[in-house]
Amino acid sequence: MNSALAPVMRLVPVLRNLVRTHRLERASPERLDAERRRLLVRLVRHAQADVPRYRELIAPETAAAFRGPEDLPSLPTLDRAEFHDRAPEELLAAGFTTANTKAGTTSGSSGIPITIRNSEHDLGYLRASYLYDMLASGLRPWDRMAYFRVTPFLRHPLERFGLLRTFHIDTSTTLDDQVEAFLAARPTFLVGFPHVIASVVEELERRGVRYGAARRVLFGGERLTPTARARVLGHLGARCHEVYASVEVFTIARTCRRGALHLRAADVVVELEQDDGSVVPADGTREAEGEILVTRLHSEAMPLIRYRLGDRVAVGPADCGCGRHTPVVLRVQGRSQDRFRGVDGREFYADFLTYAVQDFAEVSRMQLVQERPGQVTVRVVLAAGSELAGSGVAGSGVAGSGVAGSDAAEAGTTVTERIAAAVREAVPGFDVRVEAVRSIAPEANGKIRIVKVEAPAR
Ligand SMILES: [Zn+2]
Repeated sequence: MNSALAPVMRLVPVLRNLVRTHRLERASPERLDAERRRLLVRLVRHAQADVPRYRELIAPETAAAFRGPEDLPSLPTLDRAEFHDRAPEELLAAGFTTANTKAGTTSGSSGIPITIRNSEHDLGYLRASYLYDMLASGLRPWDRMAYFRVTPFLRHPLERFGLLRTFHIDTSTTLDDQVEAFLAARPTFLVGFPHVIASVVEELERRGVRYGAARRVLFGGERLTPTARARVLGHLGARCHEVYASVEVFTIARTCRRGALHLRAADVVVELEQDDGSVVPADGTREAEGEILVTRLHSEAMPLIRYRLGDRVAVGPADCGCGRHTPVVLRVQGRSQDRFRGVDGREFYADFLTYAVQDFAEVSRMQLVQERPGQVTVRVVLAAGSELAGSGVAGSGVAGSGVAGSDAAEAGTTVTERIAAAVREAVPGFDVRVEAVRSIAPEANGKIRIVKVEAPAR
């Protein structure tokens, strides 16, 4: 086992993993199943034998009897809090230390910052899956890639040969700086959080700049309203792909040519914990929805088994018809912690409310915030050209702040009033307030939380 950490990116393991990923991409269900089993059994035994924390959690007999995904329920789930509360040594496998592994830190929209450590071997796999995401999304060697993100990244060796030149658009800088960096980079391939790319495109439009060089856009990390999405792709004239990924478990799903978000079944095993507490495998035999549990099949340094990522996900059958025999992710909803509470104290996932809002073509961005039970503030950024957009008159952009007994919500004269009426219909009895705002502030990790529970300001 090679446990040294290379100072620069190693290309050979990346290429080897890339070939493997490509071979498995359209593999038959039998072939995929065999590969998953092999990797999963190896991972579980490795974790039980070599990781202090897993030695406490899994009995040797359980690991010995483990045969495949169907045995996962015999193992405990792994909570994010474990990574926050425990010393890395308890979670690292024998032979790995904080010195010979690389940390991946997520600031966590759930509010729990955690660090996952990867070996050089894990990283070879990570980089390959990352690169494969790009290639599957239409990346070509001569593309100029713009990464819209907060943190800088490791340069890859191919850049020296003028291939896959990468540019960092630092999304923590001002919009003007981002637009300047973007125009200077002249990228043909854009990667990043949708709302960040949308902001840059909207600013280009506002300045009357038509940017025609982009070929592809790879979105990941959050959901964009259909209006904003159409505007970005319309302006750029680019094709769009999407990934569902996280710092901890890498790419979980990636869109195919048909736009279906396929689970990467050769690399992750996904289970869904349903609302009644039962856990079902996301194996494509039926549609299921619940909190996602991910087992990352390549996690040598810090095994991740039944990891509670915190997202609520719906997975449908494996029936896309594009040639891939993997289940399709139908919806990725917000962090499961973001549940609204009614006045009666009942909690519910509020994601369905976002659809009532994004159905309005005028809505370019949105955020639903709950400050107290039975209440929701809907913040919307309206697309240019729609009523109120850019007027900046906050007062006239507020609707529905408890106009009891009025008919205002019925026909609705402004779009904010109509949105308020639609939301109120979806959650009867709620105090609904809609505010037209100029922008919605992202969290520290650069993402926008569409559904957010916030403690009231004191
Ligand atoms: Zn497909």
